[in-house]
Amino acid sequence: HEPPPLIFVIFGASGDLTHRKLLPALYELHRKGDIHPKTRIIGVARKDKSSQGFRKEAVDGIRSFSRHLPEDPKDDPEDLKAFLERIHYFPLSFERSDDFDRLAEYLLDPEILKVVNGNILFYLATPPAFFIPIVEQIGRIRPRLDSSGRNGFTRLVIEKPFGHDLPSAKALNKSVLSVFREEEVHRIDHYLGKETVQNILILRLANPVFGALWSRDVISCVEIRVFETIGIEGRGAYFEKAGILRDMVQNHLFQLLTLTAMEPPVSFDADSIRDEKVKVLRALVPWKGGAPSESILFGQYAEGGVLDEPVMAYRQEKGVEAGSVVETYAAMKVEIQNMRWAGVPFHLVAGKRMSRKATEIVLHYRKPPVALFRLAGCHDDTENVLTLSIQPNEGISLRFGIKRPGSPLRIDQADLTFAYNQIYPDDPPEAYSRLIYDVMIGDATLFARNDEVEKAWAFMEAFLSLNRDPKLYPAGADGPQEVVDFFSIDLS
Ligand code: NAP
Repeated sequence: HEPPPLIFVIFGASGDLTHRKLLPALYELHRKGDIHPKTRIIGVARKDKSSQGFRKEAVDGIRSFSRHLPEDPKDDPEDLKAFLERIHYFPLSFERSDDFDRLAEYLLDPEILKVVNGNILFYLATPPAFFIPIVEQIGRIRPRLDSSGRNGFTRLVIEKPFGHDLPSAKALNKSVLSVFREEEVHRIDHYLGKETVQNILILRLANPVFGALWSRDVISCVEIRVFETIGIEGRGAYFEKAGILRDMVQNHLFQLLTLTAMEPPVSFDADSIRDEKVKVLRALVPWKGGAPSESILFGQYAEGGVLDEPVMAYRQEKGVEAGSVVETYAAMKVEIQNMRWAGVPFHLVAGKRMSRKATEIVLHYRKPPVALFRLAGCHDDTENVLTLSIQPNEGISLRFGIKRPGSPLRIDQADLTFAYNQIYPDDPPEAYSRLIYDVMIGDATLFARNDEVEKAWAFMEAFLSLNRDPKLYPAGADGPQEVVDFFSIDLS
């Protein structure tokens, strides 16, 4: 697929996301020739500034956050100039209808829209409170854009969070779907742009050796963990309203869960894959169908040290209440009550200020049915373990038992390991480049569908309303110590 020409309208063009992710990703696509030469990028934000001024900010952002620009501007590559010529700025207030009328007029200029065959992509890189107001304004100008005789597509990209609970997620979907058809909407969860996340499906579906060993028949437990060493990075006010359930579990962990547990789709198109992911969410219950309160452990980091640096407690962070009970850590036990997974505990863990940065999916295999080897004095951890590592080093490893040379008979553990960067030494494409490319070619496979988002929130509702009372853990530990008992119960 060659991306078609289009107008790429970014609402929130001076925001953090645009500078950190979107412009660097667009530049990467430009460098690789993966963006149509006629595509024009229009940054929209409130402050008045010229396109020239915006280009300067764009270069600063790309220099700071992209590996493709040298520190010294004197060494800037040739292609940067051509990239900047694509970029324009349009001042607009999200609250002003007349500004959106001006935007419609601007887009309808034959010099602009005709050149790109009438294709428009709206990207909402704004705080979420603006999603519905902007969508409503686009809804108001859309008839004008559509009656202009243009034949192109209109697409909408939204960033998470897609609501902060079920009612708000439904309200957002309702608003979006009153203006756009579902196939025009791309809800970004950047986790899905990561190579190893996509590789979950390749591993399972292109390799019978793994695909055949992917069920309750052989798997005893699945762990999905997202550990971060960072804290809340100055976003206290935001995190106080979110907590880790909303910030990480409802979106990133559930994406990993559904890709790991879904049935093979009938084909590799967007809806077939998303149908299967939704089925997993429909079968999802707290462990053994029990009370949500018994299937979750909340934690919050206290003072401590991470990677040899002293770190303050969550409650001391700026914007956080002194007695806050918001969770920075959550461990959940869930079950997927379907033919493939019933009875297998899925342990989901997300935490901030942990000892290491790691995103992993770990499948534990059952022990052999008969203990053939009576191994005097031998430890018992001889299980096979398959680890899909998503961050920081992308790769896969399979642990298995081997005979230690000599006697008496002993079994050691060995790992078969595949590391992405050994085979592909070039850095993998940024998740955002991949996802923006997919939006441009209209492939929605790696984006969340409305029912998927709502099902995930529906499951979360019972957990969100629980009393938090988080267990404290020192920053730099791997969660509260109560987690050991919490997870050991079901494996006994
Ligand atoms: P941000 O830094 O707060 O950016 C706000 C942008 O919106 C600015 O461009 C600002 O323009 C514009 N704006 C605010 N009020 C406006 C108004 N009334 N009229 C017109 N423009 C207005 O936001 P962000 O951190 O980039 O976050 C954007 C979205 O991405 C959020 O949904 C966030 O959750 C999500 N996200 C962010 C990241 C990240 O790395 N930051 C990662 C994942 C997801 P002016 O500067 O002109 O006021």
